[in-house]
Amino acid sequence: MTAALMDAPLRGLLRLLSPAGPDARLSILIYHRVLPQADPLFPNELDAARFEAQMRDLSACFHFMPLGDAVAGLRNGSLPARAACITFDDGYADNAEIALPILRRLGIPATFFVATGFLNGGRMWNDTVIETIRRAPGERLDLETLGLGTFDLSTIAHRQQAIPALLGKLKYLELDARLALVERVRQAAGTALPDDLMMSSAQVRELHAAGMEIGGHTVNHPILTRLDAQSARAEIANGKARLEEIIGAPVRLFAYPNGKPNQDYAAEHAQIARDLDFTAAVSTAWGAASAASDPFQLPRFTPWDRSRMRFMLRMAQNLRRNGQMADMPSNRV
Ligand SMILES: [Zn+2]
Repeated sequence: MTAALMDAPLRGLLRLLSPAGPDARLSILIYHRVLPQADPLFPNELDAARFEAQMRDLSACFHFMPLGDAVAGLRNGSLPARAACITFDDGYADNAEIALPILRRLGIPATFFVATGFLNGGRMWNDTVIETIRRAPGERLDLETLGLGTFDLSTIAHRQQAIPALLGKLKYLELDARLALVERVRQAAGTALPDDLMMSSAQVRELHAAGMEIGGHTVNHPILTRLDAQSARAEIANGKARLEEIIGAPVRLFAYPNGKPNQDYAAEHAQIARDLDFTAAVSTAWGAASAASDPFQLPRFTPWDRSRMRFMLRMAQNLRRNGQMADMPSNRV
């Protein structure tokens, strides 16, 4: 049976698990980057061709909606069957350069959660680590003096292992200490790094002008539970204000950095989002939302399977989850 012939039974299954009306479920997919072409260091990272194929397959089985409309539909019981939303976190330039043209061509709406502190030439600390390891000359990177050990960089496979190992050692340090140490790692490797990984303000405006939703994702992408209440509130509020200034429109949707419930954010941060006039917020717990879900803790999920049928069956399986803890890919923070 060809893939397209499976669409009708698949849609039938998905309609059972994700019906219209008060019992509706909402599948929210989470993406970060869409590369122009495959990256040998990250063979599982999406590239343009795979992203487009995924969007085409999903379009055949799901009813895509803007997240804001979907949240309203969930609330008033008017969601269609097989409702789904596409979201992107962090604000990578490839979202505007690679993903946007594909989404426009296919008529798919999406929400882009942008951390404003990296716009216009900034770089997230995990990307500094990744690009340092990618570019570091030589076969070894000696970071003993920084207390981080020595990394074998002699093959692509070793570099692939070094990245999550180094990220893991840095991930839960205090923000300032981590940034300082990451900069020393870069200096030790003696590498120059790209400054065009993240969007410009003009690209955020371009997404908004194309009808895409722009959502808050703080300024500096901190782990909110590591901040005092005042700093957490400032991160969320200032990111929102900056985006509203850029697009000249209200920003009503928010994504918690890292997004694991009770680990990366807590109930108090959901309350801050409510107080700041957001209408909904998304986490990185797996699952599909229902009318019973907290609109300020909506789960998200994206299958990683390359096989179309496995991808769709995992989407179906996810419709039966209410939101559960899950790990981010090892190169994401
Ligand atoms: Zn993020």
